[in-house]
Amino acid sequence: MRIAVLNPDRCKPKDSGKVCIKYCPVVRTGVDCIYIKDDMKYPHIVESLCTGCGICVKKCPFHALSVVNLPEELETDYIHRYGKDTFVLFRLPPLIPGKIVGIIGPNGGGKSTALKILAGEIKPNLGDYEDSPDWEEIIRHFRGSELQAYFQQVSEDQLSVVAKPQYITNLPKVVGGEVSELLEKVDERGILNEIKERLNLEKIWERDVKVLSGGELQRVSIAAAILRDRDVYLFDEPSSFLDVRERLEMAKLIRKLVEQENKIVGVVEHDLTICDYITDLICILYGLPGVYGIVSHVHNTNAGLNLYLRGELPSENIRFRNEPIVFDLTPEATEGWKSSEIIFEYPELSKDLGDFSLSVSPGKLHKGEVIGLVGRNGLGKTTLLNLLSEYAAQLDIPKERTADQGEKESEDKEQEIKMQIALKPQHLKIDYDGTVELLLKEVAGKAFHTSLYRSEIIRPYGLENILDHYLKDLSGGELQKTFIAETLSHMDANLIFMDEPSAFLDSESRLVITKNIKRIVKNRKISAFIVEHDILAVDFLSDSLIVFSGIPGVRGTTSAPVNLRYGMNKFLKDVQVTFRRDAKSLRPRVNKMDSELDRKQKAMGEYYYTSIKK
Ligand code: SF4
Ligand code: SF4
Repeated sequence: MRIAVLNPDRCKPKDSGKVCIKYCPVVRTGVDCIYIKDDMKYPHIVESLCTGCGICVKKCPFHALSVVNLPEELETDYIHRYGKDTFVLFRLPPLIPGKIVGIIGPNGGGKSTALKILAGEIKPNLGDYEDSPDWEEIIRHFRGSELQAYFQQVSEDQLSVVAKPQYITNLPKVVGGEVSELLEKVDERGILNEIKERLNLEKIWERDVKVLSGGELQRVSIAAAILRDRDVYLFDEPSSFLDVRERLEMAKLIRKLVEQENKIVGVVEHDLTICDYITDLICILYGLPGVYGIVSHVHNTNAGLNLYLRGELPSENIRFRNEPIVFDLTPEATEGWKSSEIIFEYPELSKDLGDFSLSVSPGKLHKGEVIGLVGRNGLGKTTLLNLLSEYAAQLDIPKERTADQGEKESEDKEQEIKMQIALKPQHLKIDYDGTVELLLKEVAGKAFHTSLYRSEIIRPYGLENILDHYLKDLSGGELQKTFIAETLSHMDANLIFMDEPSAFLDSESRLVITKNIKRIVKNRKISAFIVEHDILAVDFLSDSLIVFSGIPGVRGTTSAPVNLRYGMNKFLKDVQVTFRRDAKSLRPRVNKMDSELDRKQKAMGEYYYTSIKK
């Protein structure tokens, strides 16, 4: 079977000469397999006539078309199509009382569509967008599966659903007033005080929703969903903007819905550690973002996550990624650095910002070293990045440490060589009025045209398809990738600073991009400071850690850079959470609170992971 999708944002029939139609071999035989009529803005492909040769895809100068050949078996798995030549979703994850079902997969893969269908916000049309089926037909479609009873109840309005949306920053546009007013109104379960305390809402209780930060809005949105008394709870990306401690508290509250009240819960989550902790079962969404998405069969979470990392679903005969994502027991590197490799050294520093003060312990950074910054929100991680980048920008690189810069050193022999800084901020403000390509060319210069740049930056970040897009038109994930790419395009930078590079990225991109950042830092023999909340990304990225402690919003203190294991132990002891390594994939896994392993590791003082023999 064939799927043809046209992107109307890219299609410009007047500018392209409609070469998609001109060169189609089927059209040349006189059959209108792809056509555009006077009353149409864009061409339409008749999938039943199309041979899937892909000539139109290659010929289109604006990359507006996608045509894919899929196995015939999927013909009966159509769930939803928004209209002609648009994205197709195949299959749905089952929702099972007493179990939390997670959905993982790429942005644009159909996760939010699946959640909206399960929430009853979209009635599935089973692919027939012109003559949508009635509930009877929809229920028949799911005959024999858990979803048959589910949609039966949805169709009869017997199932009440609450959904925590993905884009919580839109919340102030739809509701106003103080947090207390908003949450008191929805407290259908009479648990307001418990939720207020556990989600740490006291400090913002009297604040207007309009002035809340991303993390605060997320906690309010989660509270608003949990306070309602419903049969089904759906959470779309509940951990965005939260620090690790907040993520785990949120996860515990969501688990309680199932463990104590046997509710039906579905979660879309990109933080794989949190997904592992919250869910009992997972479905993997794979396909081609923006074109089609297929929901895998359901797996128990641990096995499913390992399959996801391996990039294959043997039971469905599918390989959705060429390379597996491999974790390693990161070496305890800090003590192994040589003093000749020091690239940046900073003294004890401090900063006062209104009522908040930050004290910074001195530290050193080595060539090829990535230092992760971990700690709760409100302890000054962003302040430290700014402080260090300002401090570093005034410094000269010690002469003996410029040896790797070869030619540049001899050219600049008589001059001081300043430390070159590149910084990716936390908030992605768009003050550039151009395309992705223009921005990257401006920053990277000649390097943009090299094959190394293509293989190091353009390809791993999947930027080929958005090079001609204006920054203002990008999604959150695309913007994040562009900002990271821009930072890494400063070819002369010796020090990179990144604030939450994994925000807005799906789990796949997080792992691919963090691996890529680490490789670039090592290859270029530069160094990086990276603020990150996703434990898997921290584990993947960091050679060393700076750990923050203190009172959020009042006082923050940083440790000197310490090795990853010591730093994670220190941080996790502070938040009273233990991690172990998965025996197969070596990925970090959160231990259930008060489980035997949790108690044992706490007694041993091993909060991060105990030794695993490979
Ligand atoms: S799909 Fe491409 S070639 Fe066809 S009309 Fe649109 S822009 Fe032109
Ligand atoms: S894929 Fe081939 S047959 Fe199908 S519309 Fe394009 S050119 Fe025509």
